[in-house]
Amino acid sequence: MTDEASHLFYQTRNPRPFLERGEGIYLFDESGKRYIDGSSGAMVSNIGHSNPRVLAKMKAQMDKATFGYRLHFRTHPSEDLAAKTAAMTPEGLDRVFFVSGGSEAVESAVKLARQYALTQGQGSRYKVISRFPSYHGCTFGALDLTGYDPLREPFAPMMEGMPKVAAPATYLDRDNLSEDERGLKYAELLRDRIIEAGPDTVLAFVMEPVGGASTGALVAPDSYYGRVREICDEFGVLLIYDEVMTGAGRTGKFLAAEHWGITPDIVAMSKGFGAGYAPLGAIVAPARIVEPVLDAGGFLHGFTYAGNPLACSAGLAVLEELEEQGLIENAARMGDVLMDELRGLMERYPFIGDVRGKGLLTAFEFVADRSTMEPLAPKLNAYDRLVELAYERGLIIYSRRTRGGTAGDHFLIAPPLIITREQIGEMMAILHDALDAFAE
Ligand code: PMP
Repeated sequence: MTDEASHLFYQTRNPRPFLERGEGIYLFDESGKRYIDGSSGAMVSNIGHSNPRVLAKMKAQMDKATFGYRLHFRTHPSEDLAAKTAAMTPEGLDRVFFVSGGSEAVESAVKLARQYALTQGQGSRYKVISRFPSYHGCTFGALDLTGYDPLREPFAPMMEGMPKVAAPATYLDRDNLSEDERGLKYAELLRDRIIEAGPDTVLAFVMEPVGGASTGALVAPDSYYGRVREICDEFGVLLIYDEVMTGAGRTGKFLAAEHWGITPDIVAMSKGFGAGYAPLGAIVAPARIVEPVLDAGGFLHGFTYAGNPLACSAGLAVLEELEEQGLIENAARMGDVLMDELRGLMERYPFIGDVRGKGLLTAFEFVADRSTMEPLAPKLNAYDRLVELAYERGLIIYSRRTRGGTAGDHFLIAPPLIITREQIGEMMAILHDALDAFAE
């Protein structure tokens, strides 16, 4: 940053250099210094920077019209993007509603669920069960679903009565159960919570299929996913997958849900869906949920910029690139390469207690002691230090304090899906260097 005060503020004052340009997996600041975008921003830039197809498609749309309000005109980019999204998501998810970001997508999913329940004579259902830790956004509704107390408490009370249930952080469990049994154990916690809340008051359960900012790429045991689907069906609870971070190919499938053959009732997407070219997100749902709402007078919801033709032209080009360049398959392949490299870190650095992830959404976690998994963060402020050491060396990684905000340090490594094996090597060399400096 400069010496002068800035008129701009976000969460904090921003000491970072000015961004000049991006190219593929790299970003350059104004001094010409190059950075590997090891977290795709905040898991956003899935197809890398300055993609020529996306830029060309956006420029062509700009020459025609950048905005036409959706209630005044249909547009080809929005219709085409909706059709392509429906084609790329599991069968049955074929109605698409556009938004401009992840929090908006989560809010939209919950409001659609609520209106659907009303059309079914189930007005008593309003509670949305979510998990802790979790992150679902910063608007009041999405924040109230977020299982992260330090972000929520200053704003309480928000929506009343939203129960939480533990996310399966099985790497912290010290029991004699098999992974399968652990998955089922955590799923049963959801069943208990539904019964406790009163099944006829529970509208939906919302979960990140692979944890993101909150839990650091936490994947549940395979048995968890199917059992959660069954439990939701048993009680008529709608299953909402928050795929804001995992969607659009990040985990090696278009939706993470596909890894377990799950069809959620509503899916929220953003981040990689616009891939940094446009603020864009969507909810995708089956006709059986959307049509009754439209028949009953319409969805009482919508954001002014939603589905604008410029954003949708970007989104359409992003999905075309994913498909034609085989980037989702590349995410699966390179995810395996990256995971092997991260496992190697555990051998070299005793303060790395766990590595995990799916596809190119991966993470490692710092601990003071591997046998107890006691976190390292509170003692050493490790979280900020490693991020800075990597940044100085030209690698951007993403970190959050975790475990419900009490402790823990995880670092997300989630490069653009275009990354090559050689570039993973380049990224790991910088990471090793930063970890060596941290260990000193
Ligand atoms: N859900 C998940 C799973 C996310 O990771 C995020 C963003 N980190 C959001 C919702 C909120 O998205 P946005 O910041 O675009 O509102």
